[in-house]
Amino acid sequence: MIKRTLKEIQEMAKGEAIAPEYSEVMVEGVSKDTREDMNGKLYIPIIGENFNGHKFVQQAILEKGAVASLWQKDQPEPPSDVNLIFVDDTIEALQNLASDYRDQIGMKVVGITGSNGKTTTKDMVTSLLQTTFNVHKTAGNYNNHIGLPLTILSMKEDTEVAVLEMGMSGRGEIELLSNIAKPDAAIITNIGESHMQELGSRKGIAEAKLEIAAGLKPGGKLIINGDEPLLTNKISDFDCDVITFGLNADNDYVAQAIVLKGNGTQFIIEETAYMIPVLGAHNVTNALASVVVGKLFGVNEENRKKGLENLSLTAMRNEVVETNGGWTVINDAYNASPTSMKAAIDLLGSLTGYTKKIAVLGDMLELGDQEISFHQEVGRYVQGKEIDFVFTYGNLGKSIAEGAVSVLGKDKVKSYTDKKVLTEDLLNILQKDDVVIVKGSRGMKLEEVVQGLQ
Ligand code: ATP
Ligand code: MG
Repeated sequence: MIKRTLKEIQEMAKGEAIAPEYSEVMVEGVSKDTREDMNGKLYIPIIGENFNGHKFVQQAILEKGAVASLWQKDQPEPPSDVNLIFVDDTIEALQNLASDYRDQIGMKVVGITGSNGKTTTKDMVTSLLQTTFNVHKTAGNYNNHIGLPLTILSMKEDTEVAVLEMGMSGRGEIELLSNIAKPDAAIITNIGESHMQELGSRKGIAEAKLEIAAGLKPGGKLIINGDEPLLTNKISDFDCDVITFGLNADNDYVAQAIVLKGNGTQFIIEETAYMIPVLGAHNVTNALASVVVGKLFGVNEENRKKGLENLSLTAMRNEVVETNGGWTVINDAYNASPTSMKAAIDLLGSLTGYTKKIAVLGDMLELGDQEISFHQEVGRYVQGKEIDFVFTYGNLGKSIAEGAVSVLGKDKVKSYTDKKVLTEDLLNILQKDDVVIVKGSRGMKLEEVVQGLQ
């Protein structure tokens, strides 16, 4: 993590007024939360909708061991008994600090955005690059205007590559993150429908994701999913080098011959066979993006293969769970959007060697005023997919059921608003060698169904 004198921190944060006698005090790390270990750190008070971190400045320093704190100038009554760096805006100061630290370390940066698959791709890129480099990646989902700078500041001085997830909910956010991170390689995994509410259309979403090119380092590469016309149509707008990846043959990098094997997926890129220990064609495109970065950064073929084979993913993303009853559950309950729901349906449809195949699908939240039709569309998507039953959960789930009934008929579709009842009914029909995929938005907490099925 960052280790600098208070004077240096003040300059990096573009702040004012550290008494000269304190300027050589060492700061080791930053934190915005007094419930974390604060020893030796700089406290960063954040003003949120429901709280004001400035209330905890004295506690952070006098009780928790922080050595200093930022203080936003417009806040009344700064305490006089502690070390303060005065700034115009504490979040901006945090971002300035991170931006400067990034430049000082001089590591390479991989920035990753997209509607789905950011965290998965981040894990894959990291797994592949860490065969060869000292890599630091975003912890969990720390991917916004506060989490990304905190991630950068938690990096060790000897970091060679930072792999940073960049999330957004509206225009301008990815541009800001890209300008802080200054990526050498910027990946856009795909374009879905999340944040339709704020951005109006899939085209609007694509434009927002393409903001990741704004902060690219000179010579940096924009690496996009070339199967998405909303991205490829825009290539000519960019001065930087653009590299496309995808399953269609006209991309710069293509994954072919995709075969599901046990709990993993095998595929070929440029005549090299790769294996990932996770399921699904959508994960192949994520892996493909990571191979492109690996090649760009000079990771040799053996290490690229090894890195992907040894991948371990953050939980609840297509996690294969074995059960006492002998049926298989694929826990994909981490989150859901129409694109990722369809990817899950494709995955279930493509599995072989199982007796019954059942999809448990919950509400997809935050889709805006077209939410009903998105849910119906997901339901209809099971048509022709070799799926035996669809169980839905939640109020919007009813619309998934409607869509599914229209293509599968009433007998194969059931709709619930109670997870316990759903789980019991499912347990009544499950037998050895069946497979169930469970997916819904985070707020639906469908992992409770997964637990029930174990
Ligand atoms: P968040 O916005 O919540 O941070 P994310 O972009 O980080 O999401 P992941 O957590 O990697 O995405 O994956 C979430 C889900 O999206 C996965 O469980 C999977 O179902 C689906 N998914 C992953 N990659 C893709 C892809 N390339 N295309 C479509 N769906 C995908
Ligand atoms: Mg994520």
